[in-house]
Amino acid sequence: MVTTTHTTPHTAHTEGEATLDRIVWLRLSSVALPLATPISDAKVFTGRQKPMTEVAFLFVEIATEQGHEGVGFSYSKRAGGPGQFAHAKEIAENLIGEDPSDIGRLWTKLVWAGASVGRSGLATQAIAAFDVALWDLKAKRAGLPLAKLLGAYRDSVRCYNTSGGFLHTPTEQVLENATATLGSGIGGIKIKVGHPDGKYDLARLTAVREHIGDDVPLMVDANQQWDRPTAQRMGRALEEFNLVWIEEPLDAYDAAGHAALAASLDTPVATGEMLASVAEHVELIRHNAADVIQPDAPRIGGITQFLKLAALAEHHQLQLAPHFAMEIHLHLAAAYPIEPWVEHFDWLEPLFNERLEIHDGRMYVSSRPGLGFTLSDQARAWTIAEQEVGTRP
Ligand SMILES: [Mg+2]
Repeated sequence: MVTTTHTTPHTAHTEGEATLDRIVWLRLSSVALPLATPISDAKVFTGRQKPMTEVAFLFVEIATEQGHEGVGFSYSKRAGGPGQFAHAKEIAENLIGEDPSDIGRLWTKLVWAGASVGRSGLATQAIAAFDVALWDLKAKRAGLPLAKLLGAYRDSVRCYNTSGGFLHTPTEQVLENATATLGSGIGGIKIKVGHPDGKYDLARLTAVREHIGDDVPLMVDANQQWDRPTAQRMGRALEEFNLVWIEEPLDAYDAAGHAALAASLDTPVATGEMLASVAEHVELIRHNAADVIQPDAPRIGGITQFLKLAALAEHHQLQLAPHFAMEIHLHLAAAYPIEPWVEHFDWLEPLFNERLEIHDGRMYVSSRPGLGFTLSDQARAWTIAEQEVGTRP
């Protein structure tokens, strides 16, 4: 016998139509964030870059006719910030009058507006700031944290600290930083390697491992400064440290070299932060080049692109540890099926009014809708150029 259950339709959900909205205003801001101490990784020690003293941010704020707002950002370290801002100024007008919900279509529209400068790098990094703002707006309008809008697998993500272990920092200070980091509730420690003297790296790592003990997750990052034979030798020497991963052992575009190294080591190999599009990450995945991929949403064109890559990465059972910009990546990592890592940097904190909750080794998705961040007065004070398009409602 078939039993039928009758329910009364909920009229509020069966009547009426979804309201369409349109973008009426944008504000682009170029913000120069000064760093307290000049920062050096292996790229400085090999003479390829100067110590970093500031980070350039491109913020995009978007408002709709109905008064919904979103804020997103992209960034550049060392050169490139003014170029991202200039490209954003040229393409911003294309969003006026558009429905902010159609994010994929709008991303494509912005790419075609600047098609002659390509689908990777600086051009799509400028688009990323618009894309992130559109996702923030969509989640805010839904009244949901972005992770929930995307579909979260967890409400917190394992986090590790990078900023305490740079190469310019004396070892004693690195040990003090590690103690402070773990005391603040962060779960893992990453140490920069790739010093021209490999023995220096190994001695420093020995000191850190002894200091934090065998059970604390520990990673190293060579910032692309080893050649293939050096990466092989160092990789073998590093096996005994039981590392979570070895990051950027080789040039970011050496997919075949990474694949050979990853196949020969027990320690997982991580890379991908320097790649500037999903297509470049596809090359890594095709070569089985990494156990852990480290995409950076602002660098590959925004959240829309990151989600395409995350789907592909899951299909290949890859681990995920997004690079930098924890304010965005916490949400994206929370929505990745395989337990990921988020990189903790406190550098961006002065730009926002809100702080992320961190304890027991994990970073927590807040209950605030969208990304959950508003721009601080300090971010306004560090704004060096600004452009508005349209009229704020
Ligand atoms: Mg790195």
